[in-house]
Amino acid sequence: MAEKREEEFLRERQLMVENQIVARGIKDKNVIKAMLEVPRHLFVPDSLVDQAYGDFPLPIGEGQTISQPYIVALMTELLKLDRESVVLEIGTGSGYHAAVISRIAKKVYSVEIIPELAERAKRVLKLLGYNNVEVVVKDGSDGLPDKSPFDAVLLTAAPPAVPEVLIDQLKIGGRLVAPVGEFFQELLVIEKKKDGIEKRSVAAVRFVPMMGKVRKNH
Ligand code: SAH
Repeated sequence: MAEKREEEFLRERQLMVENQIVARGIKDKNVIKAMLEVPRHLFVPDSLVDQAYGDFPLPIGEGQTISQPYIVALMTELLKLDRESVVLEIGTGSGYHAAVISRIAKKVYSVEIIPELAERAKRVLKLLGYNNVEVVVKDGSDGLPDKSPFDAVLLTAAPPAVPEVLIDQLKIGGRLVAPVGEFFQELLVIEKKKDGIEKRSVAAVRFVPMMGKVRKNH
């Protein structure tokens, strides 16, 4: 671990929120508060702690990445969470995004296909006492039917198309936010209404591909 003191990390975190999050239009107070609170430097590899608050994604091992802070904030804001929300995340990775959501929502179920990443994420979340996050090691292609329905579903790896079964696991009024596509991906927000779904594209994005069964029919 770098020798940098916690106050310096806090200062970097405040600058991150000011320059990358608020300056780009994120308004949800709970999202801003959570991004100020969660120590992102604990979720990146030790060799990269000095870059933890930079305006870019970082490698977290196993060929995977932790998203740029702004993208984490944007996706979280789009989920429209409150203190009662029960959330499913597919792609725990470092555990950072789950940690941010855990500061806003009631409960986060986070599914990760790579056991080594899930174990590391579990350790950090436990260390921080973020006990409302449950990390489950499995292919998230089928979601988590036992714990459904969810108020919000978040994908942090890109499937070629949104799996229907994940929409099935949303409550009426719930929202799914996901990067969708192959090389060129769009960030989609899907709202489940009584009489169907409403879909909109928010931005062009670049995420790691979602693996597993979701690829089988493509
Ligand atoms: N949210 C993460 C970023 C994760 S990167 C963070 O805050 O750090 C995407 C993650 O999705 C990777 O860890 C990858 O292993 C995982 N993943 C890819 N396909 C998956 C699948 N089918 N089921 C569960 N996790 C998957």
